[in-house]
Amino acid sequence: MKHFWVLLSLTILLVTNTFAQKPDKPTSAELFHEVQKLNFLGTALYVAAHPDDENTSLISYMANHKKARTVYLSMTRGDGGQNLIGPELRELLGVLRTQELLAARHMDGGEQRFTRANDFGFSKHPKETLKIWDKDKVLADVVWTIRQIKPDVIINRFDHRTPGSTHGHHTSSAILSMEAFDLANDPNVYSEQLEQTTTWQPKRIFYNTSWWQYGSQEAFEKVDKSGMVSLDVGTYYPELGLSNNEIASMARSQHLCQGFGRLTDRGSDMEYIELLKGDMPKSNDVFEGINTTWSRVKGGEAIGDILYKVEANFDFQNPSKHIPELVRAYQLLQKVEDKHWRTLKSEELKNIISAASGLYLEASSASASTTPGSKATINIETINRSSQNVTLKDIQIVGAGAKLTPNKVLGDNQKENFEVNFTVPANTPYTSPYWLNEPGTLGTYTVNDQSLIGKPETPSAFKAIFNLEIDGVEIPFEKSVVHRYSKPDRGELYEPFAILPEVTSKIDEKVLIFADSDTKSVQVKIRAGKNDVSGTVELDHPMGWKVSPNSIPFSIAQKGEEISVIFEVTPPSTESEGKIEPKVSVGNKIYRDELVEIDYNHIPKQSILLPSEAKVVRMDIRKSGEHIAYIMGAGDNVPESLEQIGYQVHVVDPNDIQHGDLDKYDAVVVGIRAYNVVDALKFKQPVLFDYVKNGGTMIVQYNTAGRWAGQFENIAPYEVTLSRDRVTDENAEVKILAPNNSLVNFPNTITEKDFDGWVQERGLYYPSQWSSEFTPILSMQDEGETEKQGSLIVAPYGEGHYIYTGLSFFRELPVGVSGAYKLFANMLSIGKDEVKRDNNVKG
Ligand SMILES: [Zn+2]
Repeated sequence: MKHFWVLLSLTILLVTNTFAQKPDKPTSAELFHEVQKLNFLGTALYVAAHPDDENTSLISYMANHKKARTVYLSMTRGDGGQNLIGPELRELLGVLRTQELLAARHMDGGEQRFTRANDFGFSKHPKETLKIWDKDKVLADVVWTIRQIKPDVIINRFDHRTPGSTHGHHTSSAILSMEAFDLANDPNVYSEQLEQTTTWQPKRIFYNTSWWQYGSQEAFEKVDKSGMVSLDVGTYYPELGLSNNEIASMARSQHLCQGFGRLTDRGSDMEYIELLKGDMPKSNDVFEGINTTWSRVKGGEAIGDILYKVEANFDFQNPSKHIPELVRAYQLLQKVEDKHWRTLKSEELKNIISAASGLYLEASSASASTTPGSKATINIETINRSSQNVTLKDIQIVGAGAKLTPNKVLGDNQKENFEVNFTVPANTPYTSPYWLNEPGTLGTYTVNDQSLIGKPETPSAFKAIFNLEIDGVEIPFEKSVVHRYSKPDRGELYEPFAILPEVTSKIDEKVLIFADSDTKSVQVKIRAGKNDVSGTVELDHPMGWKVSPNSIPFSIAQKGEEISVIFEVTPPSTESEGKIEPKVSVGNKIYRDELVEIDYNHIPKQSILLPSEAKVVRMDIRKSGEHIAYIMGAGDNVPESLEQIGYQVHVVDPNDIQHGDLDKYDAVVVGIRAYNVVDALKFKQPVLFDYVKNGGTMIVQYNTAGRWAGQFENIAPYEVTLSRDRVTDENAEVKILAPNNSLVNFPNTITEKDFDGWVQERGLYYPSQWSSEFTPILSMQDEGETEKQGSLIVAPYGEGHYIYTGLSFFRELPVGVSGAYKLFANMLSIGKDEVKRDNNVKG
């Protein structure tokens, strides 16, 4: 499938697309499409909250049918979700999803923007969302985007009038968009932005409604649509050989970490957008009444005179024939006062001139990365594949202070190669996502440079500017310096050329649990960013902890090579937690970063620098039992966490388990959403329940309510109704309902304090009803909601115990929340109390 996408890879948007570093090579039909877009001076902004919220059909329709500049503003980078293709979570998942959005926009012809908002996890209400996001900052960013993009129309994915009906991030995106619509033109609002941009009033704002808003397609058919504009987004583009919905499906399929790979679609398909503010268009043209021709710009008419003729007489066999006219239009465009249109249309026009003359301009490095202070070589390739008169005046490497002045005529199809050698300036910034450079809050990233806010990614440190004289006019063409190489199994590849530290370090295990006072060996990996690096490593640690030895010398010969050193870490005798942080000294410099690389075939390789550290927790934890069977569900790291506190965890395949097989285990734990994703469980419930009846302990973690209904009437040996009840406030107060129950007494005493320091949420998909055999242990609730008692319920069954819990152990254990460990240890220890207290005493 991946190869299929590569082949179909469109060059729909040549303009501001920095995607994948891979050069676009449009056909003359695609180039014609670009000329049409050049001649449309209108802009649409689509607003939602997450990667995958966006309606790619509508974005593609605006970009390819209306030919408008079309931008998707996603409030967040989707950091809070789950990852179906790899280990990246939280901020790293945000980096991956940012690239997936760029890949999607590369398909559908849109552009991508963000605010500083962090996807902190599920939120029930916009009130909560806007408290955790710094509302003022995120609103400022929406205003900033409107002022920079200057959209004529805005389309919200979500309804601002129905808080509580969907994810709080969704409604918040619409609320902020509505507010920003009214604020962007007011010079007294966020006036500091006006040093870099100007105010703007969009003409109309819409809400992209859908039949599912009305419950069913039948119900939607009956709705009065006089306030809506309807658009057939199934239109076919002969110059691209694709239907709009085929493009939309291909774009959507880029969200691979969310499992959105899907079939393409064709045929007529209606979308409805409801007018919220501005005047209602009489036709289905959302730009009606807005001048979208060149006469919109002062001095633009003369440019339009030239470019409309190019469009009308476009030569598909020899587009280079149009170079003199295009260059003349470029010259006129440079005199236009309006900076917004001048900048935007100059870029589009340059890309068209370049493509029409078959220009290929590349600045690439044979190595993937370099370090400040090192020597670097950049290979330049230039070729003009037309009979037009083109001279290469000079090449400047911005960021490197290097320049070549070949002043050479580029003859038709005569390739010219150059080499630029320079020393990387010592102050060159490292390659890393700009929004992760400073510590942020739970809800908002910290970005100090206003000009970076909104940008999908960090601009590359080195850019090559090729100064060409075409038909007597000097035109600068800018290209990011890339790393170009080939792999025998994948062919030619382009990647960002990364600037990395001389040395980075890493502790693989991000959380180390010390369940007793024993010393543990901790491995620190050290990676060289250049040849011949030597120095020493120390491990900073919290007070009361001991690390031996104090310092370890190392030396690495090869760039990219990684070596390991081992420290012995001894915890204090009492409970304590903190961080251990490798400190690498090379000469008089100290390095504290970890390098994380994200590398998948569908996105360009990402280098991320994060503080090198691991959390260490000394907890006074008692446990009973030793051997645990684990049935994996949708995937979680609970087994590794249980091993950290001394359990032996055996991952078992439910297909293989027979009656009696499980008897040797102290407990069987079922991983998250197992009943949603593991078909074999449908047939193995009797085996599991028999195990419980014979004295075993079965612990089932959360499953979603929807999918198993009907298939699994018997998720428990007694009646249980799963619901959508969740407590999303990770600090919500927890009350113990059954203070005498074993689960809060043996072997660890659990108090309200054990619910301090939880992350992201308390839990999700709690049962709302259960039969009388069950005892609910805890009670909690989100602000303004009713009390939820289903987060942890336990029932005796035969000689054993069955426990169902929607508490988010899968989030809490991997980050070392000690109360969550103690409660989990109690669940695993149930029934092993020698005093045989009555486990089933009702609270
Ligand atoms: Zn969403």
